[in-house]
Amino acid sequence: MKRFVPEAVWIERGEADTAVARAVRARFPGSVELFDGRPPVHVTSVRDGKRALVLQRHRGSFLRHCPAGTSGLVCCNYLVVNLASNCPMDCSYCFLQDYLADTPALAAYTNVDEALSEVDTVIRAHPERQFRIGTGELSDSLALDPLTGLSELLVPFFAARRNAVLELKTKTDCVDALLDLDPRGQVVVSWSMNAAAVVERDEAGTATFAERLAAARRVQAAGYRVGFHFDPLVEFEGWEAGYAAAIDAIAGAVDRSAIAWVSLGSLRLSGGLAQAVRNRPQLGYVLGAELVAGADGKARVWRGLRLRMYRFMVERLRAAFGAAPLYLCMEPAPVWERVMGEVPTDRALALRLAAGAAW
Ligand code: SF4
Repeated sequence: MKRFVPEAVWIERGEADTAVARAVRARFPGSVELFDGRPPVHVTSVRDGKRALVLQRHRGSFLRHCPAGTSGLVCCNYLVVNLASNCPMDCSYCFLQDYLADTPALAAYTNVDEALSEVDTVIRAHPERQFRIGTGELSDSLALDPLTGLSELLVPFFAARRNAVLELKTKTDCVDALLDLDPRGQVVVSWSMNAAAVVERDEAGTATFAERLAAARRVQAAGYRVGFHFDPLVEFEGWEAGYAAAIDAIAGAVDRSAIAWVSLGSLRLSGGLAQAVRNRPQLGYVLGAELVAGADGKARVWRGLRLRMYRFMVERLRAAFGAAPLYLCMEPAPVWERVMGEVPTDRALALRLAAGAAW
C-alpha cells in the first residue's frame, strides 16, 4: 500500500527533540513547522483532519479501559493506551467520524515515555494479572509507524515484561520496522479483516486484503503472534461466500498455531455516526435496515441477522482454525449464549485470550 505522507507536519515547540519528533523530522520529506500553544491546524471534519500531522504532548492519562466495559456487554478486560488520535485512512463506517468530531486533527503524541511509565506502574501493581493492551482505538496502530518509529519504542518495552501483551491492530502492511525487533512472545500484531468486497468498497486508503495477509505472514515469520478481527461484519449480497473466502484465504496463508485470537463484531452506530454515514452512499443499506439500540446506546442491525452472521462465521472459523480463541466484541450475554453456547465471566474471557496470546 502507499505509505502515508502528510501535506504538512506541525510540531509543538518544546517537543521537537523527543524520539517521535526526531523520527518524523528525519523521515518527512517536507519541512516541518513549530508551534506554541494550540496547533494552528484549522480543520472542520475528521476527514479533513487526515491531511496534516500534528506532533504534540498528550495532556492527561494515556491508559483506559476499553468501552466494552459498559454494563450489559460481555467484556474481555482490554486496556487501551492512546498514542495517536485520528487516522490517515478513511473507512466509511469508522466511529472516529463522530467520536473525534470536536478534535479532528491527526495527532501523534510525543511523551511516549510518560505513557509507558503509566503502563509500567499499572502492570507492576498487579503481577498476578495478565494484561492485554492495545494502541488501536483512536487510530490505526501502524499507519503512522513509518514516520514516527513508535514500534521501536513499544516492542522492546513490552518484550521486557512478562504480564502484559501489546496488541498492534492495523489495516496496513506497515510492518517493516517490526521485523528487526524481538517481541519475545509479548506482542500480537492483528489485522482488521473483511470480505474483499467490503475492503474495496468501504476501506479507502487501507492495504488490500492480499497485502494484509502478506504482512501477517511476514510478522509471523519474525516471531510475532497474529490476530484477526472481523469487525464490522457487513451484510451484502453474497456475504456468506465473501466471508468464507476470506477465512479460507487466512487459513491458507497463516500458521494456525500462531493465531492469538479472532474477534467478531457488528456495526455499531452512535447517533453522530449514523449522521456521518448518511454521506457515505455505500453504507446506505444500514440506514434502511432494522436497527436496535444496544446496552451502550449504539444502534446495531437487528439481532436475528447478527446471530445468523456470527453463527456462520464461528462455524467456519472453528473448522479453519481449530482451538484458536474466538470472541464476540461488544455483545450482550444472550447473544454470546446463542452463538457460542456459553457466557464467560469477564475474568475467564480475559484469561482465555491472554493464554491465546502466550507462546
Ligand atoms: S483504519 Fe480504523 S481508525 Fe482508520 S479510518 Fe479505518 S476504521 Fe477508522
